[in-house]
Order: sequence, then structure tokens, then C-alpha cells
Amino acid sequence: MILDVTKPLSEAGCEEYHLWKADLDTVSYQGNIADVSWNGDIRIKAKNVSKGEALLIISGECVYSLPCDRCLKRVEIVQSIECEHSVLKDASDKTQEDEECTIGHEVNIKEVLTKEVLINWPDKVLCKDDCKGLCPVCGSDLNSGTCGCDTFVPDPRWAKLKEFM
Ligand SMILES: [Zn+2]
Ligand SMILES: [Zn+2]
Repeated sequence: MILDVTKPLSEAGCEEYHLWKADLDTVSYQGNIADVSWNGDIRIKAKNVSKGEALLIISGECVYSLPCDRCLKRVEIVQSIECEHSVLKDASDKTQEDEECTIGHEVNIKEVLTKEVLINWPDKVLCKDDCKGLCPVCGSDLNSGTCGCDTFVPDPRWAKLKEFM
């Protein structure tokens, strides 16, 4: 969605409200690809800050699934997105703090949202805190019982000693 903020940029006291039905988007991060869908509408408030400057307040809730770090089972992630995004009419008004802002009167909302999803991407994904993971030998899910494999990893120092026996 491209949002036109000509009015909030130029009219003092202007406040506009928009609802946007975001469509499914694929986001990839650190080798993981997730289809991100949105619960309900994205709410956008666009308000005038000063002449030539507007502020967007964007909120919504997204859902996607990622594999558990230990057993690879898909885990559903529900994430609230609340962010503010500055818009400046002219690049000459830009200060260092405005690094992430948009210059001009058109804002690509999808781009802003995608960036926000990535900022909030979880560092660690576990299906449950005590997930037992997969057996390193046969790959079966240890959460649904033991497989009976010998997962004992011998100490390399003992292996050396064994050569003499
Ligand atoms: Zn797991
Ligand atoms: Zn096994």
C-alpha cells in the first residue's frame, strides 16, 4: 500500500486515519522464510508535526510460523506491531535522527511493516521451554518418546587410549 500524506505534510493540525487490509507477505531472515499474515486491519494514523513533516503511527498484529530450533516443529508466532514513522517533504529537512524516515509524500506501508517485523523477529524459537529436540542418530522426535539409540559420545581422550588396548 502506498499512502499519500500530502495533507498531513502541509496542513497544520491535520490528522488522518486509515485502515488497511494487508495481504500475505513472505519475509525471510537468517535463512528462515515465513509467510506473514495479518490479524485484522493495519491501523494508520497520519498527523502533521510541523510544516513539511508528518508522523505515521502504525499498529497491527501479524502471525507467522517458524521451525522450533530443536525439533523443527512449526511454532506459531503472534506479534503486535506498533511503530512510528516520520515523513519529510524535503530531503533538506533531514537530520541524523531521521535516518529511517521517508522523503516525499508517498509512504510504502508494506516496506515499513516488513522492516518492523524483522526488528521483532524472535532470536530463539522453541515449541516449548523443555523441548527435547531430535535424536542426533536417527532423527526421531525425542518429545514423543525415546528411540533407544546409543547417543553416548565417547570422550576423544578415551578413544586414544583404546588404541593401545
Ligand atoms: Zn521443539
Ligand atoms: Zn534415535
